[in-house]
Amino acid sequence: MTRKLYYENQYITDFEAEVVSCVKNGRFYETVLTETAFFPEGGGQPGDTGAINGVRVADTKEINGEIIHFCEGEVSGRVRGSIDWENRFLNMQQHSGEHIFSGVIHRLTGFDNVGFHMSGTEMTVDFNGYISPQVIEQAELETNMCIYENTPFEIIWPKADEVADYTFRSKKEIEGQLRLVKVGEADLCACCGTHVSRAGEVGIVKVISVMNYKKGVRITLRAGRRALEDYIAKNRSIAEISASLCAKTEETAQAVEKLKEKLGAVKYELVGVKNELFAEIIKDIDGKMPAVFYEKGSADDARILADMLADKTKLAFAFCGGGDGGYKYAAVGRDIDVREAGRTLNEKLGGRGGGRPDCVMGSVTASREKIEKAVAEYIEQGYNR
Ligand SMILES: [Zn+2]
Repeated sequence: MTRKLYYENQYITDFEAEVVSCVKNGRFYETVLTETAFFPEGGGQPGDTGAINGVRVADTKEINGEIIHFCEGEVSGRVRGSIDWENRFLNMQQHSGEHIFSGVIHRLTGFDNVGFHMSGTEMTVDFNGYISPQVIEQAELETNMCIYENTPFEIIWPKADEVADYTFRSKKEIEGQLRLVKVGEADLCACCGTHVSRAGEVGIVKVISVMNYKKGVRITLRAGRRALEDYIAKNRSIAEISASLCAKTEETAQAVEKLKEKLGAVKYELVGVKNELFAEIIKDIDGKMPAVFYEKGSADDARILADMLADKTKLAFAFCGGGDGGYKYAAVGRDIDVREAGRTLNEKLGGRGGGRPDCVMGSVTASREKIEKAVAEYIEQGYNR
């Protein structure tokens, strides 16, 4: 059985050990040592990475009671292990912050953390009941108060006959020796992970987002340096928005609202102007050649134009764009199924698209001349108005 140095002192980064076994299995040499500071994945916390005698350790897992180091090369004899401390400490900050937050939520609501995931830069915690935004805000505040107070993290290994004396949070049934993590009055939880020794090292815990999940909520959190990175990125982003809007950072939301209002008014005005323009465009079009072209328009314009024209001609085609060798088109029918017309255009003009019986939309890659010819042929070839 490997001696677990990470339980004796979670701050050990370098150590010496003997190789018990090193067996190639697929990509990795699965290595067991007499002792190790490499924490194997558990309790939602990822396994450590690092090096053994300079050979990269890509991951660490506990499998059937053995701590396996997944080495990218072979190692033997007496070796020197060194864990990737920056990564481990980030994990400790996240994991320890989550303990305090989950403990506080449990005290405030009675709900349990029923799912914990750490991956990449964020972590999520699932609780088995709805929690209001006010309570989440309160929990965030109390969590950070615990951090300011620099509350110690204590590890308790209760004897079998003492277990009943403790009331603790637990994610699953514990087999074998129980390991409890106590953070003052904030939390008491069964856990196999590595933690900071005092809450102050967590730095900060920040709720990033909350979503309804199953019958409860999923809360995304960041702690310590991960929270700082988030703050830096968001601060940069808000500074750019603020400069772009010429608004104070704390007034950007109102500035965006004003901008939206202005945009709405401009859009409204534009619709009026376009309606006049489109009426002008379709003025002289008749049912003999019910196709209009508007080079500046979008797919939406094509739909509106075809719809306006169909009031006159029952069957109408509108083609917009054309600058890059392709047109967006719409075909609209009044009591006429235009899907066949769409298929014909697509076939003849290298197009694509489709829609409902009364309206199809798509795009074609052809010149105006070719399009006009295709529409004329379609009209001539037995299309019956
Ligand atoms: Zn833990």
